[in-house]
Amino acid sequence: MAGILDGKAALVTGGGSGIGRATAIAMAREGARVAVSDLSKEGIDETVALINAAGGQSIAIQGDVTEKADVANMVARTVSAFGRIDCAFNNAGVAGRSVGPPGQRIHELTQPTVAKMFSVNLMGVFLCLKYEIAQMLKQGGGGAIVNTASIAGLVGLATSGHYVATKHGVVGLTKTAAIEYAQDGIRVNCVNPGYIKTPMTKETMDERYDEIIAKVPVRRLGVPEEIAEAVVWMCSDKASFMTGASHVVDGGYSAA
Ligand code: NAD
Repeated sequence: MAGILDGKAALVTGGGSGIGRATAIAMAREGARVAVSDLSKEGIDETVALINAAGGQSIAIQGDVTEKADVANMVARTVSAFGRIDCAFNNAGVAGRSVGPPGQRIHELTQPTVAKMFSVNLMGVFLCLKYEIAQMLKQGGGGAIVNTASIAGLVGLATSGHYVATKHGVVGLTKTAAIEYAQDGIRVNCVNPGYIKTPMTKETMDERYDEIIAKVPVRRLGVPEEIAEAVVWMCSDKASFMTGASHVVDGGYSAA
């Protein structure tokens, strides 16, 4: 049966774990050739091994989304392997615990903690957009990009001011890129996951599970594959009239 991404070349950042890995695998299942990028070499090697063992075609590119030379290299290597780039999933990100102590309100957050969060979650997405779009324009236009925002890109979350700021920023970048490149046939959307069970959220979920689940109408955490399916669809030509949108996948959290 034909896949909905047949013939397309894709780049996934943060592809060594969680949502990025599940999406890279789902893209390959739908026929895309996938460049899997992450800081973690071990992570990308494992994702690529899973894809290639299932008969898919993928390559691993280690890189840091906060470094412009690395991001330029991710795009260049994708193009040298697959000839072009049709889809990109800008998903690499960090949560509060990776950049500083948890539980801090805005007056307690330090500038280095906030700067680290901004550099990965916001500058990282900016740099990916910059280099991916330049390549898509060079190819003559066309393409689909999905950025990972969050429910924290739509509502505030106490003690996550820096994370919330970055994810609202990702929504803003998404809308602006969608407008700027609509005439070039490049669609840019974001996915806004709710609470998803991944290595990123494990500690928080272990500590605050009951409190969090009480706010999720379906009364469970999501799994990365449930985000992957939405991203694959947004990257496909089936989503041809969708651009500039925030696609919420959150078990009803933001509706409540
Ligand atoms: P994860 O920790 O499993 O995966 C994130 C990946 O990003 C890791 O493999 C990590 O190595 C990589 N990464 C971190 N910094 C990087 C950098 N500078 N350069 C390149 N790669 C880097 O977490 P996840 O839950 O799969 O998160 C993926 C995305 O989803 C993030 O943007 C996160 O903010 C977002 N998100 C997650 C949830 C959730 O509940 N898990 C909810 C909403 C949004």
